[in-house]
Amino acid sequence: MYSIDLPVPPAFVITTQAYKNFLISNNIMEKIYDELKDFDVENNEELQRRAENCRNLILSGEIGEDLKNEIIEAYDAMNINEDILNVSKSALDLIKAGRSLPYVAVRSSATAEDLPTASFAGQQATILNVKGNRNLLNAVRECWASLFTARAVYYRVQNKFPHEKVFIAVIIQKQIQSTTAGVIFTVNPSTNDESEIVIEAGFGLGELVVTGQITPDMYIVNREGLTIKSKTVNEQDVKLILDPNTNQNIRKPIEEEDKKKQKLQDYDIIKLAELANKIEEHYKFPQDIEFATENSKLYIVQTRAVTTLGKVEEIKEKEEGKIILKGLAASPHIGTGKVKLVEDVNNLDKVEKGDVLVTKMTNPDYVVAMRRAIAIITDEGGISSHAAIVSRELGVACVVGTHNATQLLKENQLVTVDGSKGFVYEGAEEIKEELKEHYEPQTEIETITKVKVNCDLPEAVENALKQNPDGVGLLRLEFIIAEGKTHPAKYIKDGRDEEYKDLIKEGIRNLAKRFFPRPVWVRTSDIRTDEYRDLEGGEEEPKESNPMLGLHGIRRGLKDKGILRAEMKAIKELYNEGLTNISVMLPFVISPEEVKETKKILQELNAENIPLGVMIETPASVWVIEDICKEGISFVSFGTNDLTQTVLAVDRNNENLQYLYNELNPAVLRCINYVIKVCKKYNVETSICGQAGSNPEMAEILVKFGIDSISANIDAVRNIRNIVNKAEKRLMLEAARMHSE
Ligand code: PEP
Ligand code: MG
Repeated sequence: MYSIDLPVPPAFVITTQAYKNFLISNNIMEKIYDELKDFDVENNEELQRRAENCRNLILSGEIGEDLKNEIIEAYDAMNINEDILNVSKSALDLIKAGRSLPYVAVRSSATAEDLPTASFAGQQATILNVKGNRNLLNAVRECWASLFTARAVYYRVQNKFPHEKVFIAVIIQKQIQSTTAGVIFTVNPSTNDESEIVIEAGFGLGELVVTGQITPDMYIVNREGLTIKSKTVNEQDVKLILDPNTNQNIRKPIEEEDKKKQKLQDYDIIKLAELANKIEEHYKFPQDIEFATENSKLYIVQTRAVTTLGKVEEIKEKEEGKIILKGLAASPHIGTGKVKLVEDVNNLDKVEKGDVLVTKMTNPDYVVAMRRAIAIITDEGGISSHAAIVSRELGVACVVGTHNATQLLKENQLVTVDGSKGFVYEGAEEIKEELKEHYEPQTEIETITKVKVNCDLPEAVENALKQNPDGVGLLRLEFIIAEGKTHPAKYIKDGRDEEYKDLIKEGIRNLAKRFFPRPVWVRTSDIRTDEYRDLEGGEEEPKESNPMLGLHGIRRGLKDKGILRAEMKAIKELYNEGLTNISVMLPFVISPEEVKETKKILQELNAENIPLGVMIETPASVWVIEDICKEGISFVSFGTNDLTQTVLAVDRNNENLQYLYNELNPAVLRCINYVIKVCKKYNVETSICGQAGSNPEMAEILVKFGIDSISANIDAVRNIRNIVNKAEKRLMLEAARMHSE
């Protein structure tokens, strides 16, 4: 926060390395870990005893001379504020000599603390109003020792965090004797509404607000435009302040005329919201921030990721008592129905029309039952998982990555699923579907950047057409394959190539016809070896330890050429029927050689005239894009579901890592920007067909990058067209203004 110029109080940090050195130089590291080895944490007496032994080892340890001197020197320098630093050396010495040491807050920050998934908040010590060298060094040791309170040891064992992996840093921060203090959430914690910033403020030190001992003022600020949406001013009778005579925090009654006063002025509310925005932008995740004001100056004293789960559940539960489960919002619809727990494909039949399908994770075999379901809930997966993609296309509510839906929900239990928030309620809840821009009447807008649609399910064609897209930017074959109930490899193995070709051909024809002459980009099959095992012959697929990086996409097609050839042949025959709007797109490409080999197959089939494109889903395809262009392709399409996964090394299906999975990560954006630039040079059309194409923020960025088209989910097409339209207008206006200057 300091490095991005936020108003943090003067501070310094004693790093985790210093803590490690302390353990090593006192020879107590092994002793501590031995103490915590092999014992039952449920045995409270033993837990207390062992934890105390660890703490005593630390509290009686010696802080080495070097570190001690550095701490004292840094503490010493703290009282000199930056303006004073500009004065001459001799003046500085005088100031130094005459001043007293400052009060500081000594706070701990453990390495596994404050993850979005696990808040270890409050586990380690914070010591307020510390003054003097000796007190400071003792407080540092106390912070280190607090890593081994019985509570902290127990929590780590329960959460499977090895003790050896957790280290602790200590932050020495100038104590703010606050007139007002409180908390800012960059997402409304009671509704999860990201358009609102919520500020809670009370008089005095922040502790009374944070611990809920007073009812603070609450201000809600609109994130866009930073205007105050609402203010609730609450009366406060008592505040916590430092008594300088005793060095203790004391409760002081508030003067009668101040009790009903608004705690923060409007301009401070706005200023705090602005700072909060900046902090969230920096950490790329909703934040829970603590602030304080002193002498009319605002300070940010702490920030951490919102552990949304806990807070939202807590608050919502208090309000409604009905949320029983939370996961990732995967498809923005609402559905009420009876839970049907599906263990595997063999009990899909029990899902009747209007039921809520609950399972670990869906796969293409589940689509038949998914069609009958009113909502879908899964234990695993992120927002680009199979369940999420198909639900959006079917227009049913979906919540993924709940961890334990299959254990928590009971067969036939009535639940309501809110796929826009990721909540599951007990019973039939009346929840209004939020009106999204695309539900509003919209006169047809022409954009220069084309807006296409992703359409995989044959029955979704009419709905897709209603959105008036400029074509189909992605038609996945997997859903057509699942309908055939046999694994592609099996057809080829049994010499039933023609049958496979016909399945694909019939599956595509109607869609290509209905969209004609608008372009339809058909992707050759992209089957991970763990996805299709329930299809006939699927069990013969190799077992891979990491199917996401395994034998799928174009590498599979080139290894098992019969599959690729049959798919190409299907497309060629349709092309020859006059459906010349079809193009072929290759998934998971990593080299120009793959394009070359594929072209050979097209040649053998006399189908070189069919336009060929590749998906950009790997860092390799990004860095060899120039060579790929030289090989001769017509278009590329960013498969950001995979590209994000492969660039960030974050498994897209791992719900525990969703906080890192971000298509807008600068590393991903730079890949996209680079590829667009190279493609422009070679006149190769650029598009996107990953989930990120439905994200307005991404759409705006892509327009700026100069992408040729964006392919969005059916329900996002209209909204994205509006976004694209506005972004284009803005760019044109900027250009015109620049020109006229
Ligand atoms: C992608 O990776 O972005 C993509 C569109 O392909 P899939 O989701 O099928 O892997
Ligand atoms: Mg992909």
